[in-house]
Amino acid sequence: MQTKAFAAQSATTPLAPLTIDRREPGPRDVAIEVLYCGVCHSDLHTARSEWPGTKYPCVPGHEIVGRVTAVGAEVGRFKPGQIVGVGCMVDSCRTCAACEDGLEQYCDGPVGFTGTYNGPLMAPENTWGGYSAAITVDEHFVLAISHDEKDLAAVAPLLCAGITTYSPLKHWGAGPGKKVGIVGIGGLGHMGVKLSHALGAHTVAFTTSESKVADAKALGADEVVISKDEAQMAKHANSFDMILNTVAAPHNLDAYTALLKRDGTMALVGAPSTPHPSPAVFNLVFKRRAIAGSLIGGIPETQEMLDFCAEHAITSDIEMINMQDIEAAYARMLKSDVKYRFVIDIASLKNS
Ligand code: NAP
Ligand code: ZN
Ligand code: ZN
Repeated sequence: MQTKAFAAQSATTPLAPLTIDRREPGPRDVAIEVLYCGVCHSDLHTARSEWPGTKYPCVPGHEIVGRVTAVGAEVGRFKPGQIVGVGCMVDSCRTCAACEDGLEQYCDGPVGFTGTYNGPLMAPENTWGGYSAAITVDEHFVLAISHDEKDLAAVAPLLCAGITTYSPLKHWGAGPGKKVGIVGIGGLGHMGVKLSHALGAHTVAFTTSESKVADAKALGADEVVISKDEAQMAKHANSFDMILNTVAAPHNLDAYTALLKRDGTMALVGAPSTPHPSPAVFNLVFKRRAIAGSLIGGIPETQEMLDFCAEHAITSDIEMINMQDIEAAYARMLKSDVKYRFVIDIASLKNS
């Protein structure tokens, strides 16, 4: 199936139109017309080869909302016309302990999970993501969307930014009686604030951008701290049960570990291309604090998050762009100038 897409041909060339071939749906496949695709900072890290292993041409995009156009003979959960989502994964081994636990993102199979883009070789090429007019995905990795149709563009970012923050918040027990910090109010962070608030935790947003203080409160933060202000930071020493750190650049982690109370955890989800400065061990040992990491979320938990968001009327705060404006969007993302997620209207690609 010849399909319009936007691709990077190298780390230094701007994304440009490319026609790709999508497979016809096999027995367990769902063919999807892409309607909207969110722009994750991981798209930029990958397109620009900031992380190792990018294969070109690279078609990013793993926050996909679309409409089912056809299903294979064995597909039971979806039918043509239905609105569905696809997140960061399109396959995994299905048989390892992680997959059996519904934690496909931690698949122990020979190649781990297959990313929606830049995934291990399945077809002749690496996988291609949602900056495209259509995608074919095994039904196991397709999510049901129950939000109102008018909100679909703002639902797309839930497929990565939503689950990547929901999963660690749940894992480390964010909820009533807990004090939770969210560091970095970008695509992930603004979802982290909304979800932590909805889960009932006392939520504190940490930002480097003075211009985001009022917004962070509107998103659901009980308090907002300018992280560059040491006096503001010191007021929160030894007080957090959990801190979720979404920052996409290396920075001093000690400023945050010092804010954890005994047995508190800072979970890192931001994935900068170069390491953070080494954290001070004394900050950890004296209060049995932990620094941990978390990767997106499994398919069952992604469905749980989507249903939770539909029930609580949670979507992302978005700025819609045309496919052709992706480079300008990347440039603004690098300046932390996005409120709070760019979403591509894929009609702009189809009509080009
Ligand atoms: P984003 O929209 O660019 O947001 C990152 C935010 O971090 C910025 O808005 C900014 O917030 C803050 N920030 C940026 N540079 C900073 C600096 N030098 N010092 C301090 N704060 C800084 O990016 P995103 O899409 O949310 O993604 C964030 C990171 O998570 C990326 O590295 C991405 O690849 C990674 N990621 C990981 C997973 C996973 O599964 N673990 C999944 C998706 C994405 P303020 O203006 O509020 O300071
Ligand atoms: Zn992402
Ligand atoms: Zn597996």
